[in-house]
Amino acid sequence: MRGVVMYAAGDVRVEEREDPKIIEPTDAIIRVTASCICGSDLWPYRGIEAVDHQVMGHEYVGVVEEIGAEVKTVKVGDFVVGSFVISDNTCEICQAGYQSKCVHGAFVSATVGTQSEKARIPLADGTLVATPAQPDPELIPSLLAASDVLGTGWFGAVAAEAGPGKTVAVVGDGAVGLMAVLAAKQLGAERIIAMSRRPERQELARFYGATDIVEERGDEGVAKIKDLTNGLGAHSVIEAVGTQESLMQAIRSTRPGGHLGFVGVTHGVELSGLELFFAEIHLHGGPAPVRRFLPDLIQLIWDRKIDPGKVFDLTLPLEEAAEGYKAMDERRAVKVLLTV
Ligand SMILES: [Zn+2]
Repeated sequence: MRGVVMYAAGDVRVEEREDPKIIEPTDAIIRVTASCICGSDLWPYRGIEAVDHQVMGHEYVGVVEEIGAEVKTVKVGDFVVGSFVISDNTCEICQAGYQSKCVHGAFVSATVGTQSEKARIPLADGTLVATPAQPDPELIPSLLAASDVLGTGWFGAVAAEAGPGKTVAVVGDGAVGLMAVLAAKQLGAERIIAMSRRPERQELARFYGATDIVEERGDEGVAKIKDLTNGLGAHSVIEAVGTQESLMQAIRSTRPGGHLGFVGVTHGVELSGLELFFAEIHLHGGPAPVRRFLPDLIQLIWDRKIDPGKVFDLTLPLEEAAEGYKAMDERRAVKVLLTV
């Protein structure tokens, strides 16, 4: 089969990879219908994370082609959406809703690599969710978004306790930030402030439910959030970038007693214990337990109540994955969908 391999920073190739096979009785083999490039794939691409001949891709939708003897909840021919973390969905941590920290968990990234024609998904029952029927082609981008960016933005909003009566601020206007805006709106937030300085992303943020846009960054951005909230800060803040500046901006934009959901993978961030102590806010974040939200998100998409697929602004065939990485790296695209 064909699949994406990142040889080194900036060097993405599509090449022949071995066809996956059932190894464990809990495995499923899926034929990937669509995959995509994640903002987190840019960290190794830019040389910030080490990379050496790594299979790429952790977002995926597809059709089940083969199942192991113990797989019960998905069957051959089902259209499935999977989380970017493998989980059994039965251990104590999964049952508490933290499938991204499953005791039998593993990241799809680097081990499976779903920017490919097929993929072996371990613990299929605990990782995959079948759609009610074969989806209309127009729903595929939205279902694919549920695999990571939508689920991650949603977790950010839940962790930040976005809801009725709340003012929510979203730091980051990448795909996850935009999905956090969508989630905050669905969860009933009263006011949603998107922090973005790019006109096309501001427009998408408004489409997904942002009521206010703040273009300033850093301490100026914090001052603007305070201006909009009677000097108090937002009740709920979602951090969807992961840099020192964005995390500090998020912490300082949260009012005392408020909640910060941080879902941007942090790189090179150092926090001052004293500042955290006196911030007096709730912090909750990490890799999103997408599997917790998948059944509900699939239903919202199926019923056409949300349209997260609009976050993909470039679609390329798998063979042109290298151009997709380049487009995202150069910020010519928010998020690239790869058709298989
Ligand atoms: Zn588990």
